[in-house]
Amino acid sequence: MRASGQGREADVLIVGAGPVGLALAVELGERGVDVIIVEQNDRGGRQPRAKTTNVRSMQLLRRWGIAEAIRKAGPLPPDYPSDIVFATRLFGRPLAKFENVFFGYREKDPKFPESAQWIPQYAVEACLREHLGKLPGVTLKFGARLDDLAQDADGATATVMDIGSKQPFSVRARYVVGADGGRSRVRSLLTIRMVGDHAYMGNYLAIFRAPGLTGGHPQDKAISYWLVNPDCPAVIGPMDRGDTWFFSTQLPNGAIPYDPKQAREKITQALGREIEFEILETDTWSAHKLVAERYSDGRILLAGDACHLHPPMGGYGMNMGIGDAVDLGWKIAAVVKGWGGEVLLDSYEVERKPVHQKVISEAAHNYSFVTYHMVNESLETEGPVGEAVRQDVGRRILETKAREFKAIGVVLGYHYDGSPIIVADGTSPPHDDPMQLTPSARPGGLAPHWWMEDGSSLFDHFGPDFTLLVLDPAAAPHAAVIENAADTLGIPLKRLDLAQRELATLYAARLVLVRPDQHVAWRADRLQGDARDILKQITGHTGLASATKIARSGDWHGVV
Ligand SMILES: Cc1cc2nc3c(=O)[nH]c(=O)nc-3n(C[C@H](O)[C@H](O)[C@H](O)COP(=O)(O)OP(=O)(O)OC[C@H]3O[C@@H](n4cnc5c(N)ncnc54)[C@H](O)[C@@H]3O)c2cc1C
Repeated sequence: MRASGQGREADVLIVGAGPVGLALAVELGERGVDVIIVEQNDRGGRQPRAKTTNVRSMQLLRRWGIAEAIRKAGPLPPDYPSDIVFATRLFGRPLAKFENVFFGYREKDPKFPESAQWIPQYAVEACLREHLGKLPGVTLKFGARLDDLAQDADGATATVMDIGSKQPFSVRARYVVGADGGRSRVRSLLTIRMVGDHAYMGNYLAIFRAPGLTGGHPQDKAISYWLVNPDCPAVIGPMDRGDTWFFSTQLPNGAIPYDPKQAREKITQALGREIEFEILETDTWSAHKLVAERYSDGRILLAGDACHLHPPMGGYGMNMGIGDAVDLGWKIAAVVKGWGGEVLLDSYEVERKPVHQKVISEAAHNYSFVTYHMVNESLETEGPVGEAVRQDVGRRILETKAREFKAIGVVLGYHYDGSPIIVADGTSPPHDDPMQLTPSARPGGLAPHWWMEDGSSLFDHFGPDFTLLVLDPAAAPHAAVIENAADTLGIPLKRLDLAQRELATLYAARLVLVRPDQHVAWRADRLQGDARDILKQITGHTGLASATKIARSGDWHGVV
């Protein structure tokens, strides 16, 4: 941050220190970009909200070197099972159980380097803030509310209110990112509308402390319990190793939130037994299916909930926002540092919006079968009639909800087709299945994961910027041409020679250019055309027109 007169200056101003603003600041700060974050609250959040940091986010946190810190901050013991149990009530009868939900078991999986981590959102934010403290170019200011914005050809000027002193100050930045949540002030200043279904379902959330509840109920250990009964269909789960729990239930649209007495009744109904507990906090929230009509205006961009709002089923909101932060962060940094072209910033919406739209459909699909849809009047009936109903409901749950808890194809199988900074190679995308991941190095998708012989992840060897994978020594002369071209253009590139036949087979190419965010930008067996054209396209210096034809395997000629 630089001070100038009454104001401050930075390369990037981020509005909002939720998980997305913080993640963006980490991505920029790691790249040596000067950042100011303003946050209207006077401290970090306390509501648990997101509870699963998914495998893609964990992969990104590992890239920043903080995956272990996240695991240590997780409030449940490391061996706590990442399972979900369905039962009539917590003290009622079990109906169904899912194991390894969200791929949270701590086992080595060939397809990703980090399992998911159950951790409340506020603890993720605390880890990100701690990491930011180590990045000298980043300043986080609490108690500072963005009130107004103006932009010109060179940058934007924000008017920010210091809430404590009630004194406004200005911030001048080359770029401004609104990571200021669903009610984004930045978005409304830009008069950008959200499009889709607004508040289509209300929800009530309570945090309660119940001494002895953990370990004192009859169900198997789980990260959440979906309770299916006619009185109070709900989801509850432990928040820590002590006795703090969350409780969440749907509220009919327009319903008044429960008063403390009603809340006690509802929680007791969901538990199925009178026990001692104290309600610590309550909140209401609405599920939306909304996407911003535009993600930017000039030098001002939107990220996270500010531009897409999902129903929480499947745990996509924060995780998608962390993905936005990384996509946008490396691109802004490249432009600020001078090696990235303006098309990089145009590509942000082109790449992320279709992913958001797809995930919203997926989350809405998950939301179409939740606890209250599963209720059957005979669920708690004694004897064979009740038993048959419970078995039937349990079977339907297993058939229907697996997609929500095992959506690896959604979390890791998305791709950036049609992006102006991806060099398409004419191959078809892998089969699209929410529950299956077909690893593919087709440009636009995530680079397939691979465990190295020494136990490290292939991703650990990627450079911070572009990585050129050379998967066959025969491709070395072509690699040298690409390296030289990158050097001439000032594009930071790490060359990684890995002569492993299995890897070349997995990537279906001898040469692969991987972007800073682990997406494949280009692959081929050989260069055909000018390497500079490829590099200019993938760094946003040229438009949509693909400048270079890619030669596929079997069409092996010398370097042109
Ligand atoms: C009950 C519930 C459960 C959820 N579960 C999951 C889950 O399991 N997985 C998942 O991935 N997501 C989940 N989500 C969604 C997740 O919480 C959000 O997607 C996430 O918080 C979005 O982060 P953000 O940084 O974009 O916005 P926010 O977290 O809303 O942060 C925005 C920040 O901007 C600040 N701000 C706003 N206006 C201004 C201003 N004018 N000036 C300065 N600061 C400002 C706010 O104070 C806030 O701190 C859940 C949400 C809810 C409600």
